[in-house]
Amino acid sequence: MTLDSRQSTGQLIARLIGPAGPEVSCDSCFEHLDRYVELEIAGVDAEAAIPGMRAHFEGCPACAEDRQSLRALLLSVAGNSGMGGL
Ligand SMILES: [Zn+2]
Repeated sequence: MTLDSRQSTGQLIARLIGPAGPEVSCDSCFEHLDRYVELEIAGVDAEAAIPGMRAHFEGCPACAEDRQSLRALLLSVAGNSGMGGL
């Protein structure tokens, strides 16, 4: 089961029924966000490394936005230094 392509409906349902798996708090999310995004960019399965982050992003727009911003930042840094090969 995946909620990837149905964000707004998926979020709503996820809030009503609660997370299906482990979910981190905003504090933990913030704590691990750097590493999570780095793993994502590296092409590693970040959710396997830090379980619960994905579920949290689906239920927490604020953290999801932080993730997007950080990813954009890291990608631009990688691009500027000629790394990443993207
Ligand atoms: Zn959060």
